Amino acid sequence: MNNIYDSIIIGASAAGISAAIYLERQNRNFLIIAKDIGGEMALSGIVENYPGFPETNGVELTQRFKEHMEKYGIAPINEKVIALEKENNIFKVKTNKNEYLTKTIIIATGSSPKKLNIPGEEKFYHKGLSYCYVCDLPLFRNKVVAIIGGGNSANEGGIMGSRICQKVYIINKNPEMKGDKVLIEELKRQSNVEIIYNALTQEIYGDEFVKGLKYLDKISGKIKDLKVDGVFIHIGLKANTDFVPDNWGIKNEYGEIVINQLCQTNMPGVFAAGDVTNIPHKQIGIAVGQGIIAALEVNKFLNSNK
Ligand SMILES: Cc1cc2nc3c(=O)[nH]c(=O)nc-3n(C[C@H](O)[C@H](O)[C@H](O)COP(=O)(O)OP(=O)(O)OC[C@H]3O[C@@H](n4cnc5c(N)ncnc54)[C@H](O)[C@@H]3O)c2cc1C
Repeated sequence: MNNIYDSIIIGASAAGISAAIYLERQNRNFLIIAKDIGGEMALSGIVENYPGFPETNGVELTQRFKEHMEKYGIAPINEKVIALEKENNIFKVKTNKNEYLTKTIIIATGSSPKKLNIPGEEKFYHKGLSYCYVCDLPLFRNKVVAIIGGGNSANEGGIMGSRICQKVYIINKNPEMKGDKVLIEELKRQSNVEIIYNALTQEIYGDEFVKGLKYLDKISGKIKDLKVDGVFIHIGLKANTDFVPDNWGIKNEYGEIVINQLCQTNMPGVFAAGDVTNIPHKQIGIAVGQGIIAALEVNKFLNSNK
C-alpha cells in the first residue's frame, strides 16, 4: 500500500497490454490491473484486419499479446477497479480487493456494446449475431442480413453491407435515420438496402444459426417476421468508465474519456487509450497505437515531474 507506482494501467487488452510492454521497456515501476485478459478483443471472433495477421481470431490474438507481455515478466493483477481518487498529485486506485497509489494512470478499459436484452440475443451471439459490422459483415457475402440501429453505425454498416450482401434490412425503432446526412443519403441510394422504420425488434430465432427475427411494427401494432442469415446490433456503445469520478471532468456525455492526440486527458497524470476514449474508430490496431502513445507520454510526464 505504501509503494507509490510510477503508473497504473487499468485494462489488459489491446490498449493496456501495448502500454505495459512500452512501460516495461522504459523500466518503469507500474501495475496493470484488469478484470480479464483480452476484453472485447478476445470476443472479436474472426479478425482479418489486424496488420501482420492476415487470418486470426480474437482468442489467438489475445494469446499472442499475453505471450508478448509474459516475455517481459508482466503479470496483470486480476481485480476490478471500482473507484479513483486524487490527493495532492497522487492517485488512489481502489479495486474490489485492494487500494494502490500511483503518480499516473492509463485508463484502457474499453467499452461494451449496448444489448437489446431480447430472446435469442445471447443464444445466437457468434452464431449469426454480431455487434461489429466492420469485423463480421464480410462473413455474410451474398447473404441476407439485418442491421438493428438508427445512427451512424447502422448507416455505415448498411452501406458496407450493400456491397457485400445480397440484401440488407435496417431495423430502426425511430421514424427516420439519425447521423451524418451524407451517409443517410448514400444509404438510401443503395437498391439492395431496405430501411424498416418504427420497428422494435422482439426476438431473434434460428436453429444452430440465426434464421430470422421478429419485430413489432409500431404503426400497425402487428408482429412481423423477417427471414435473415445474420443480425448486427448497433444501438450504441457504453464506455467502461463507471469508476471514473464525474467531477474530474474528463468524460463526455457518452461516458467516454476525452483525450487529445497524445492520449492526455484534462487531468494531468491521467491518460486513456483504446475503445474507452472519444476517438470514434473502435479497432484493435487503433487501441494498440493509442496504448503506445499513452505509455510514451506517461514516461515523458514522469521525467518532467520528478
Ligand atoms: C464482436 C466483435 C468483433 C470485433 N472484431 C474486430 C476486428 O475484426 N478487428 C478489429 O480491429 N477490431 C474488432 N473489434 C473491436 C475490438 O475488439 C476493440 O477495438 C478492442 O478490443 C479495443 O481494445 P481495448 O484494449 O481498448 O479494450 P477491450 O479489448 O475492451 O479491453 C478492456 C480491458 O479492460 C478491462 N476492464 C474493463 N473494465 C474494468 C474495470 N472496471 N476494472 C478492471 N479492468 C477492467 C477488461 O477486463 C479488459 O482487460 C471487435 C469487437 C467486437 C465486440
